[in-house]
Amino acid sequence: MSEHKDNENHNLKREHESVNGTHSPRPVVQPKRSKLITSSHFDLNSPLQTRPASPLILNPPIDSDGLSWPSHGARSRIDQTPEEAAEREKRIADAVRTILTELGEDTNREGILETPERYARAMLFFTKGYEDNIRDVIKHAVFEENHDEMVIVRDIEIYSLCEHHLVPFFGKVHIGYIPNKRVLGLSKLARLAEMYARRFQVQERLTKQIAMALSEILKPRGVAVVMEATHMCMVSRGVQKTGSSTTTSCMLGCFRDHQKTREEFLTLLGRK
Ligand SMILES: [Zn+2]
Repeated sequence: MSEHKDNENHNLKREHESVNGTHSPRPVVQPKRSKLITSSHFDLNSPLQTRPASPLILNPPIDSDGLSWPSHGARSRIDQTPEEAAEREKRIADAVRTILTELGEDTNREGILETPERYARAMLFFTKGYEDNIRDVIKHAVFEENHDEMVIVRDIEIYSLCEHHLVPFFGKVHIGYIPNKRVLGLSKLARLAEMYARRFQVQERLTKQIAMALSEILKPRGVAVVMEATHMCMVSRGVQKTGSSTTTSCMLGCFRDHQKTREEFLTLLGRK
């Protein structure tokens, strides 16, 4: 726990320094390695570096404490006691009660009486990915294996929340990679997607985070992630026709470099 606190303070300090310009080149902190990962460093030119997802994030998805998305809120959720968790739930419920009242509802009527508490619990569940970290998700599931053919897990169902409108987007993610002596337990691919999906997201970033986390964990020859999702903020407001979906992809390594590899992946997905 104290180790976590140190990491957070360190991040805060970095942010503070860069804001004040007292530390001109962007400071790069070499993150502590997970036990499963033996070598190498983060690619600072990676897509995620172009626009940090959070002011506290200067590194790609696997950060020093494995949280993969440190923020004040995520940290305090991880470290909370059961009493603090109950207080958090109550604060959320109170806020929801305010919203309902402002929207014109009578929060004392029967149907809605306990809605704030239900909604608070639901939101905590929908965002439980903030409490997960990659180390625990992939624990004991990286194996040395002499397999160098494409591995694909398709049709992983994901449910996420659009960070711009706080409404769901959901669909399927397809993950492929070509191993370089290391493979990940197949069920962990879905767990990885789930961990990033259960946060406030935009589909583009979710796609990238899954790809880059896998790339970081396995150092494979390449990673490909394709996601197709329906966004409630679009379909329910009539911006998008019901039934249409948004597709995003992230190709790394040989999937990015070689058209043939990319095509093989898309063919296997039935997309070509
Ligand atoms: Zn939206």
